[in-house]
Amino acid sequence: MFVDEAHITVVAGDGGNGCVSFRREKFIPKGGPDGGNGGDGGDVVLAVDEGLNTLMEFRGVHEWRARSGEHGRGSQQYGARGDDRVITVPPGTIAHDEDTDELLCDLAPGDRFVVARGGRGGRGNEHFKSSTNQAPRKAEPGEPGERRRLRLELRLIAEVGLVGKPNAGKSTLLKALTRATPKVGAYPFTTLHPQLGIAELDSERRIILADIPGLIEGAARGAGLGHEFLRHIERTSIVLHLLEVEPGDGTSPEENYRAIRAELAAYSSALAGKPEIIALSKADLVSDEEALRARMDAVRAAAGSEREITMISAASGRGLRDLLERLWRALHTEWVSPGRTP
Ligand code: GDP
Ligand code: MG
Repeated sequence: MFVDEAHITVVAGDGGNGCVSFRREKFIPKGGPDGGNGGDGGDVVLAVDEGLNTLMEFRGVHEWRARSGEHGRGSQQYGARGDDRVITVPPGTIAHDEDTDELLCDLAPGDRFVVARGGRGGRGNEHFKSSTNQAPRKAEPGEPGERRRLRLELRLIAEVGLVGKPNAGKSTLLKALTRATPKVGAYPFTTLHPQLGIAELDSERRIILADIPGLIEGAARGAGLGHEFLRHIERTSIVLHLLEVEPGDGTSPEENYRAIRAELAAYSSALAGKPEIIALSKADLVSDEEALRARMDAVRAAAGSEREITMISAASGRGLRDLLERLWRALHTEWVSPGRTP
């Protein structure tokens, strides 16, 4: 299981103080009490934003505060309520109280949850007037807002799964595209486990990729890939198929394409049925652009013209930006599989 984790402190707003004040009017020497109540402090709220898929938002921001309520004033003026602080999180985010380990919430799309309640505003002296005390000098202070340390967790599901023969350049590409390497939880097997990375196109767009080295090799050896692993991989939306443009073993990109597709189909029909983008890797190894185009055409002939094919080099950076944009488009455009009517 891959978990994105963030540790933050949330501080709700303090309540405003109640006010002690007396009416002062010309010719009325002793006006009655008119101190208003303080406003309530704002809450800190977790709210699901379905456009988010990681907790990277929280890197570097450790404290989230809501506004305090305003103090009450004379002439019965109440203090304004402090604004809430709304923190947007991806669906599937789980929040624990870091100190008590209490599970606070497990957020589904549309959910909101108050993680720190704002302090109540104090009552002003107007409130304490009674038949026996016409001129109370008493007002309440506002209550402090709640402060809590939170542990946020999110199970990451790879959106893009990298497949290809050993040596196709999967690990190198993952390193070139991503900065963050999420924590890998204990997998039920040790040698085969996917590597996850998060690619950031810009501050708002992120793609979660998984290098799944064991898939083909493990399947070929009859290795039992854990249920957890399979479920993870089968929930990816897109397959990114890497093919060495100039295979080191003397094979051709198109025959490697067919070989991996056959293994995919034999191994996991769920995976084989996913949309696929093909990337010819290590383009820097072939300097002749004409030759590169010829290889691309050969792969296109093997893969079918509806397949997207692109050329990349993790070493030189060629085509990487374009690849990310293609992946983004494929992930966020309604996919209609060939042969099925929309
Ligand atoms: P994997 O088995 O698919 O994970 O492949 P790796 O990422 O481990 O890469 C296999 C070999 O190809 C390594 O020696 C890499 O340094 C090399 N390699 C990967 N990407 C490139 C590239 O873009 N250009 C060149 N020239 N070599 C690459
Ligand atoms: Mg590898």
